[in-house]
Amino acid sequence: MPQTSLQIPDRVDVLIVGAGPAGLAAGRRIVDAGATVLIVDARARIGNPPRCGELARDNFMEVFGFDPEPDWVRWRIAELGNMPVLNRSATESGAARILSRRGASVAEGCALMGLGEYDGVGRTARLRSSHGSMEVYARLVIAADGAPSRVARLAGIDTLISPLETVSCLAYRIIDTTLENANNIRFEFPPVLNPHYFWVIPSGPSEANVGLGVPAHRGHAARPLLDRLMDETGALTGGKRIQTIVGWYPSTLPLETPFVDGLLVTGTAARLIDAELGEGLWQAAFSGAAAGETYVDVGERGTSAQELASYRDRVDRLYGPLRHGYAKRRKREARSG
Ligand SMILES: Cc1cc2nc3c(=O)[nH]c(=O)nc-3n(C[C@H](O)[C@H](O)[C@H](O)COP(=O)(O)OP(=O)(O)OC[C@H]3O[C@@H](n4cnc5c(N)ncnc54)[C@H](O)[C@@H]3O)c2cc1C
Repeated sequence: MPQTSLQIPDRVDVLIVGAGPAGLAAGRRIVDAGATVLIVDARARIGNPPRCGELARDNFMEVFGFDPEPDWVRWRIAELGNMPVLNRSATESGAARILSRRGASVAEGCALMGLGEYDGVGRTARLRSSHGSMEVYARLVIAADGAPSRVARLAGIDTLISPLETVSCLAYRIIDTTLENANNIRFEFPPVLNPHYFWVIPSGPSEANVGLGVPAHRGHAARPLLDRLMDETGALTGGKRIQTIVGWYPSTLPLETPFVDGLLVTGTAARLIDAELGEGLWQAAFSGAAAGETYVDVGERGTSAQELASYRDRVDRLYGPLRHGYAKRRKREARSG
């Protein structure tokens, strides 16, 4: 993977911040159209560590825009129409490698720290890596940096989220376990987690991702709760915990206007995640692809907010279901007091 500051161009058509599913799906469309792209990710290794249950919709890869390599999918859930359980690490590092081979500059361990005003054509971004600070000028910046998007905030979009509007998660990756059923997931709403849930996602015949979402305002200690629920469900017996995953996502409504002059916000950075189900991979790929397609369509003409406005229409079909999920969750919360 190319990753040195020496390979960072000082001018590109599009700067993508974040090499998760949203940023990579955007990159795919833009690179394929022949524009110059720089993708930066703050993580030392793209895709690592994955903070996810890794369960994706069956058409995820199609929407993502890549032909999966054999190690991108760990397992398929037979009783859910062969839904893939991804290996996000392999998927994201593999997709970044493909984009790099197709001409994109990709920099790991490189974070966006500052963003200049739109000057009518583009913006200057300040990046930092272990090699020092550098500036890059981009006609368009795509904020694919997860929530709360610092990049969008630097461009003047209010992305602050109250802790009460987040879901904190704790999960384990477990191997060498005996699963009650490796061909289906468990997804339950036990009263003790109300309005959140507990999941067991098999990732092989004898391995699984097991976790729960704990509403921030409940203050339950997540670890003993997860241990207890694992014992009580009987979904799996024994095994070795090889990874503890701690993460969170927003449970509030998506950004109403996920664009300003010279900048599009995509994926979880735009809060495009179904907090009812904890599902954000598909939404990230879908909205990332939409961001990329928006640039391909209008980028030659310009990247003012007016030019970029069609992005909102492209992602519009995400908003209805996400609003519905939000309302359902709020109802469940109200019932639980
Ligand atoms: C515990 C847990 C389990 C989940 N399980 C599932 C599941 O099973 N199925 C599902 O569909 N969804 C799941 N989700 C949600 C899913 O992980 C996210 O919705 C998805 O990762 C969003 O993709 P993204 O590309 O928008 O952002 P991300 O995947 O969060 O990627 C953002 C990237 O931006 C980088 N970045 C951030 N700031 C900067 C910066 N300033 N400069 C450079 N880079 C930066 C980060 O390093 C990161 O790599 C889960 C979430 C959690 C927390």
